Amino acid sequence: MAITAVAMAPPLLLWLTLTALMVTAPVIGFLATVSWCLQPYLVFTGTSLRPADLHGTCALRWIQPPWRWVRTALGPWQPRVPCDVLELARKDYAQALAEGTTPFFEGRRPDCPWCGSSDLATFLRSPDLAQHKPGHFTLEQCRQCRHIFQNPRLSPAGLEFYYRDCYDGLGAKRMDSLFRRKRDAYMSRAATLDPEAAPRRWLDVGAGQGHFCLLAQQQWPTTRFDGLDMSAGITEAERRGWVTTGIAGSFPGVAPGLAGSYDVVSMHHYLEHTRDPLRELKAAATVLRPGGHLLIELPNGHSLLGRLLRSRWLPWLQPQHQHFIPAENLRKALHQHGFTVVKEMYGETHSPVDLVAAIWLTLEQAFPEPHVPWRTPEPARWRSMLRGPAIVAALPVMVIATAADRVLARLLRRTRGGNTYRLLAQKHSDGGP
Ligand SMILES: [Zn+2]
Repeated sequence: MAITAVAMAPPLLLWLTLTALMVTAPVIGFLATVSWCLQPYLVFTGTSLRPADLHGTCALRWIQPPWRWVRTALGPWQPRVPCDVLELARKDYAQALAEGTTPFFEGRRPDCPWCGSSDLATFLRSPDLAQHKPGHFTLEQCRQCRHIFQNPRLSPAGLEFYYRDCYDGLGAKRMDSLFRRKRDAYMSRAATLDPEAAPRRWLDVGAGQGHFCLLAQQQWPTTRFDGLDMSAGITEAERRGWVTTGIAGSFPGVAPGLAGSYDVVSMHHYLEHTRDPLRELKAAATVLRPGGHLLIELPNGHSLLGRLLRSRWLPWLQPQHQHFIPAENLRKALHQHGFTVVKEMYGETHSPVDLVAAIWLTLEQAFPEPHVPWRTPEPARWRSMLRGPAIVAALPVMVIATAADRVLARLLRRTRGGNTYRLLAQKHSDGGP
């Protein structure tokens, strides 16, 4: 719908300009409009082509743009997903929501999962602004260690419900297109490791559909890349040849069987999704050989824009992101698991999307996409009808926000205030802590 509205905007804008010109400067406006209406004759002058609707098109050209636009806006909306698939999914979601969202949460814990302190404060409350599934989520912050975490956290049923159709199923195509546009970020991550490291085997944890591994192979052509993920996408990554082996499952669960197998383990935007990040670090220490490297990239929960934009700061991503680990906490935990941090990156890892994403999240909330199977009741028809025009109207603001994001990225380059940080750690060569 939004793409249709964008595609139809230029002729409508031209028509509005000509109409405005006829009001403000009638003679020039009339001549310009007549020339525009006769333009199809010019196109075919000097050729043997005479389209059957040439005269009709020229005669009706002035009324076509507004007529087409109104007819499209008022016409029945064709969902991207076939109706029968949508109907089936709608029944499944209705069944999953039969008891409301209560089964999707565990009880609220009274202490910090990182340091055990009971000195907690509510930090942020947010709905699901990415998929717009029902439910409200709370992030709390520990006053002792500054760790921010989801409390109450999602239950296994909640994880199943909120991840469904996000990275696979109905959401697979959208995510694939998003990941394909992250080439620069993937190349930057792959280049973090010293060129002399020459890893033989690299395991990417949270590999999704294998996009990072595919690009990292350009940087490390002799390295074997394996990927691990909970979602079915990793099987597809192996089928495509983007990873040598795709391992489906939980990292702590499979780690004992892979002990000492890898020279590098990477976890890009993975730990914040997990239920217990410390177990994941232990698993990384298990699968790495002595002297191997662990590469971690995470959202920076202490970014200034995270405070200013509140729930519209994309990296909060509720309910998927369960932990926001301060860099100093991660550094200490890595040390306790037998690692030394050899590289820390802050400003240069900032992703310049905060402002434009905040506008997009606001638009999505005000004018939601209709016909998604988990939304009952469906949004009011007028809100769906205004979605396209609202997105077109917001385009100039989004262009400005994109430029502002880039300026901000330059300002943040030498600070610790970016939205992302990256640590490279090396496992002690004696293998112990
Ligand atoms: Zn704490």
